Amino acid sequence: MKNILPEFYCPYSIECYQCCLDTEMTLSEEDISKIELLGYKIEEFLEEKDGFMTLRNIDNHCIFLKNKMCSIYENRPQGCRFYPLIYDFNIDDFVIDNLCNHHDDFDLEIYRPLFDPVQVFVYNLLGERETRMRRTMEEDIKVEVEESKEALEDPLTKEIKKIERDKEKIESLIEQAILETQDENVENLEEALKSEMREIEEEIEELEKGIQADLVSAEKHIKITEESIKSEIEDLEKRRKNAEEDDN
Ligand code: SF4
Ligand code: SF4
Repeated sequence: MKNILPEFYCPYSIECYQCCLDTEMTLSEEDISKIELLGYKIEEFLEEKDGFMTLRNIDNHCIFLKNKMCSIYENRPQGCRFYPLIYDFNIDDFVIDNLCNHHDDFDLEIYRPLFDPVQVFVYNLLGERETRMRRTMEEDIKVEVEESKEALEDPLTKEIKKIERDKEKIESLIEQAILETQDENVENLEEALKSEMREIEEEIEELEKGIQADLVSAEKHIKITEESIKSEIEDLEKRRKNAEEDDN
């Protein structure tokens, strides 16, 4: 934005610099850029007050006041150029600032042709303030959202890690349980096989005993049968001999 006001020269500024003491002069973005181009850093000469960018004071005077004179006079802010003319929002009108040492010496009517351009300038300042405040608010919201996200993510991440650790533990326990179960199964199987083997061996033993007993019994029976047959043969022989003797 270009300077919208003609150069204003305070006829009392040779001996007065009251408006440069404890100043609350508000700067436009263009004012700031111009001063930055002189080599000053924003944090050196600016303060933010309620969204407005104002000149910084040192020892109760404007940072640019040196030897009772403005050290950036050619590049001084727009507000300094039209002071003591100010726009009073309370009465929605232009006034000569009553803080000016020569308040009563200025005739407001002389400045009337400047009212419209000054009003444009003032509304431009308000617009810049609104933009700045919105930007600050958006940044604050962004930071708040990030912090909230982090705050939310932190316990979530912890919870997820805990769940993952728990899961690993459970998987390890399951693996262990499977291995133990397998071992147990093998042991049980071995035990069952051994028991079955023992039963089979006992059965074989019983069978062998039975067979042995049957053999003994069979041998006895054969012996009895042999003796019986032998006795019958002898008996028959006797009877045959007796029959032959009878025939003779
Ligand atoms: S910039 Fe210059 S004119 Fe404006 S308040 Fe500071 S010293 Fe005064
Ligand atoms: S205070 Fe008023 S009289 Fe003094 S320099 Fe500033 S504008 Fe001029």
